[in-house]
Amino acid sequence: MQGSSALLCKIRVLADQSRSYLSLGTINIFNFLCSVGSMVHLSLSLWRFCLLSLPLASSLSIPQKAIVEESEDSTLIRDLVIDDAELNITDYTSLDEWNPAEWDYDVVIVGGGPAGLAASMSLARVARTSLLYDSQEYRNEQTRYMHDVLGQDGQVPLKFRSTVRQQIEQLYPDYSFWATRKTKVIGIVPLEKGFRVYDDKGGKVTSKRVIMATGIKDVLPDKPGFAEAFGRGMFWCPWCDGHDYKNRKLVVYGKLASAIGSALNMRKLTTDITIVTGGPLSKEDKEAAETRWPGWETVLKNSYKIPIRENDITKVERTTTSMEPKDDQYKVYLNGGGPLDANGIIIHVSTVQTSSLPKQLRLNMDGNGVKVNDNKESSVNGLYVVGDANNDGSTNAYHAMWSAKRAAVHAHVSMSKQEYLDSVPSAMVAVAGGHEDFYRRQMEELESHIGDDVEQMYKALGG
Ligand SMILES: Cc1cc2nc3c(=O)[nH]c(=O)nc-3n(C[C@H](O)[C@H](O)[C@H](O)COP(=O)(O)OP(=O)(O)OC[C@H]3O[C@@H](n4cnc5c(N)ncnc54)[C@H](O)[C@@H]3O)c2cc1C
Repeated sequence: MQGSSALLCKIRVLADQSRSYLSLGTINIFNFLCSVGSMVHLSLSLWRFCLLSLPLASSLSIPQKAIVEESEDSTLIRDLVIDDAELNITDYTSLDEWNPAEWDYDVVIVGGGPAGLAASMSLARVARTSLLYDSQEYRNEQTRYMHDVLGQDGQVPLKFRSTVRQQIEQLYPDYSFWATRKTKVIGIVPLEKGFRVYDDKGGKVTSKRVIMATGIKDVLPDKPGFAEAFGRGMFWCPWCDGHDYKNRKLVVYGKLASAIGSALNMRKLTTDITIVTGGPLSKEDKEAAETRWPGWETVLKNSYKIPIRENDITKVERTTTSMEPKDDQYKVYLNGGGPLDANGIIIHVSTVQTSSLPKQLRLNMDGNGVKVNDNKESSVNGLYVVGDANNDGSTNAYHAMWSAKRAAVHAHVSMSKQEYLDSVPSAMVAVAGGHEDFYRRQMEELESHIGDDVEQMYKALGG
């Protein structure tokens, strides 16, 4: 097309110096293409491209820091600086690359924990192809057994993941695909109606949707023995590990108000509990505890007989070589007084996102979680965040699988709708008010159905 000569331009995307964000997105590309469009004869399909991209470009947009400069080159060159890796990607030489006719996959799934695997299966059940990347950084990496999951109670997490994966591979070889093991996604670029995904092995694929199931990490105090003990007697979730410490010695380590909460949640399992507060209690600590647990001092001392040690823990030491939970034994060293013996240690930790992708994409956040709507869609249209990484406020295997299922359903339904709309003859669309209005109205109508529940989504699809 004549217009291609006008695409003689070089886009150099400079990453944010300090953060190295992925810095190219739809608005600049759209603006650029529209300004190019004014210089060329716009064919019918280009008009369609511009019109259709209006609502989508704004909804897919991510904040930009791009410098666009004219050049003699015949290609658009983007230098993406992502973390430590620098990619030279020759891209967007034509409208086809901005809005490809063929997609490599319906969905790219980033993450191979329970959330990512659930998405893979769900999509395969409705004949949607997916490619799953797994960098093998699991939150429960050190956990010996997973619990409180029907049919999987006491299962080794690695075994759980490999069994699920094997089942998916056997049942849905035509739909569920897997990137080479330990491949990390390092960049995701929104296109007009989908995404281009880059990995650390130099690969890139396109997909209509992305489901990020990238998880979170627990940030442990930098103290001797903590990293080794985490998931092996040191834990935060009573439902996950608590039952292993029934009638055994427990230390609860944390700020007074939350430590009392954990102690109460464990008290049905064991009454042999000591709270260690991390240091002398301040007036604020006591007030916070009083607000949440009126009369805490009296109840803990006289009724529950839970001692409170106003010390910090300096080190924990495993005093048994057996790795079975039933044998867990620790010495908990304090900065005052002798060490405590404990079988289990409950700890309160903060968490961070495992992946830098939410930062690169500048997704809206809610605290440390990626902000998602009811359908688990992030602030970038068509990009879902499921499992621990989102802001649902729940972090367990059930939530991971449920939220992935929800996203997979929404992704499928919205792709089906989009495919339908793309098949409507142009003449009919014109009668309905033109592409922009027609398209927007239809997608809004779909959203109103999807705002409901999963069942409603099937109905929206005509099921
Ligand atoms: C000590 C401990 C014990 C627990 N016990 C239980 C329990 O008994 N029962 C329970 O229900 N829950 C338990 N949990 C919680 C449970 O582990 C999490 O809720 C669950 O793993 C979340 O699943 P997820 O798929 O969201 O994330 P994860 O399982 O953390 O998986 C994240 C995935 O994303 C991948 N990833 C991240 N970034 C990238 C990238 N850029 N490219 C490619 N891949 C990427 C990782 O490699 C990984 O595959 C426990 C947690 C801990 C810490």
